Amino acid sequence: MTDAVRLDAVSKVYGRGRSAVAALREVSVGIPRGTFTAVMGPSGSGKSTFLQCAAGLDVPSSGAVRLGGTELTGMDENALTELRRRRVGFVFQAYNLVSALSVIENITLPLRLAGARVDRAWLEEVVRRVGLDGRASHRPAELSGGQQQRVALARALVTRPEVVFGDEPTGALDTMTARDVLMLLREVVSTLGQSVVMVTHDPVAASYADTVLFLADGRIVDAMTAPDAQKVAERMTRLGAWK
Ligand code: ADP
Repeated sequence: MTDAVRLDAVSKVYGRGRSAVAALREVSVGIPRGTFTAVMGPSGSGKSTFLQCAAGLDVPSSGAVRLGGTELTGMDENALTELRRRRVGFVFQAYNLVSALSVIENITLPLRLAGARVDRAWLEEVVRRVGLDGRASHRPAELSGGQQQRVALARALVTRPEVVFGDEPTGALDTMTARDVLMLLREVVSTLGQSVVMVTHDPVAASYADTVLFLADGRIVDAMTAPDAQKVAERMTRLGAWK
């Protein structure tokens, strides 16, 4: 079975000469389809760069990234934009909803941008799964933070992406609401077979994943399966994350 995402010897260097910073150093990892992966590491360890390269938002300095069977290396910007629209979903800490649009219009925006047909049955299923029944015509301002993140998740899922990438998706939510959103992410992985890759600094958030990848200084230094929050926190402490 092909991985949802595969990185082979991916390096990313920002800047050049004396001011060059190696954000990723020959990172190789395969993320199996239908799994929930958390990416953790101290600040500056390369988490955002990892996510951006894996999602086709940034181009590695060397190495290869594959989404499904597709090699991203050498794709031009138009092809990458098309790939991101059709095959990848994103959830960020900021929900990035369009305030003038209703819930349903926000959710279907990526489809309309891609000129794709709206599959009504799937749209209804996604809206129901994320618990937004009865809110379809609301504006974002009429929703709580947790509900807005559910809209963002529905928007990410509606294109049936191969992978949903999350950058601190629960970072702006209170503990209880964050837990609801994490349980929802867990559910879309377990019941829909969605692949999810999420950067987080929160051991509790990471404990919802199947696997945690630990980055330090641009390298994957460890992986933990069936993580629990305590063990993740201990591992982070040993990486010097909270000095
Ligand atoms: P993290 O998400 O774990 O905090 P990042 O991937 O943001 O780590 O950054 C990894 C390293 O790369 C850091 O040293 C950071 O300063 C550097 N870096 C990230 N983005 C840029 C950029 N656009 N220009 C220069 N250096 C960058």
